[in-house]
Amino acid sequence: MPGISAKAQTFGESVIRDMTRMAIRHGAVNLAQGFPDFPCPPELKAAAKAALDADINQYAITWGAKRFRDAIAAKTSRTYPGWSVDPDTQVTVVCGATEGMIAAMLAVLDPGDEIVVFEPFYENYGPDAILSGAVPRYVTLHEPDWSIDEAELRAAFGPKTRGIVLTSPHNPTGKVFDRRELELIADLCREHDAVAFTDDIYEHIVYAGEHIPLATLPGMAERTVAVNSMSKTYSVTGWRVGWVIASSELTSGIRKVHDFLTVGAAAPLQEAGVVALSLPDDYYATLAADYRERRDALLPALEAAGFRVYVPDGAYYVMTDFSGIDPELDDVSFARRLVEDPGVAAVPGSSFYSRPELGRSKIRFAFPKRLETLAAASERLARLRVPAA
Ligand code: PLP
Repeated sequence: MPGISAKAQTFGESVIRDMTRMAIRHGAVNLAQGFPDFPCPPELKAAAKAALDADINQYAITWGAKRFRDAIAAKTSRTYPGWSVDPDTQVTVVCGATEGMIAAMLAVLDPGDEIVVFEPFYENYGPDAILSGAVPRYVTLHEPDWSIDEAELRAAFGPKTRGIVLTSPHNPTGKVFDRRELELIADLCREHDAVAFTDDIYEHIVYAGEHIPLATLPGMAERTVAVNSMSKTYSVTGWRVGWVIASSELTSGIRKVHDFLTVGAAAPLQEAGVVALSLPDDYYATLAADYRERRDALLPALEAAGFRVYVPDGAYYVMTDFSGIDPELDDVSFARRLVEDPGVAAVPGSSFYSRPELGRSKIRFAFPKRLETLAAASERLARLRVPAA
């Protein structure tokens, strides 16, 4: 009987998406997968409907509708003055950051190249690297503040290093990399002629510090592939519309790979994207303030239930350690217990590590949810509380 490739055998199914299926089965409050349970801005829905009615229903240009690429370039330069983006040669519209990251890696990396990945990491990057034939070199972010050990990072760069993945704000830790850390990463990229693959999808969800795109550091625009998406900023994870900004040289490769992978992202939703990226600045201020409120609603409930909480400075996840509640269980068993009773779905920590033992006592909660949903989760979590001796 035909079997699957050696490549496909090297990684498992997504644990995050599996937890969502378990949540549905058990009627649990789903704080596993990072998608909002509230509506997207009404302007976006109106724009998408108008685009369908205007018969924008056929393939867009493979690397993105001109109006949308123009809006991406304009929004990027408006948000980060000094970062100038040519919409005609430096932007590729893709089916979400997910496709953006793998298309970029396939376009830039060759089999045997090494790519540095901070761990814990968003679980897609491992398979992305493997499917590109590259070898991930993991560098640990150290608790409690997820700091970089400069010597460890330097040691991960070698003659085969061709790239590094940087996610800031970071999933799953909520770390926002500061300028000093970014300068170190930029120095290493320049020294080793490596490409930085930045995942900027949480750029507007920051509670402390600021998001500094790596591409804006001196000499980095030409060696940064900046992956971004509408998913998180505009609460439309199901639309599957994202973009990649890179030098024209790298973009020419990314566009070819993207074309043969997917041909293009949904044409009517790219039109709605023009409206999204033209929203005024106060949209982003409100987005961050609303997420701060959600974070501040969930964290005390987790602490009261006995979790050790690593307070996130950005993105919409919180890493926790449950050893104070049950030191015996491993993360997968604990997540299973939690989804069954009291009925809250979260993601086992080991799925964010190459060395599963590092995540053995950890579990990640996502909070892009209505306050009512977070209140329901908090009520359930209260049932976990260890009774006073
Ligand atoms: N990158 C990170 C760091 C994420 O956390 C996620 C989703 O959770 C994605 C990419 C997926 O983005 P998209 O929906 O644009 O494919």
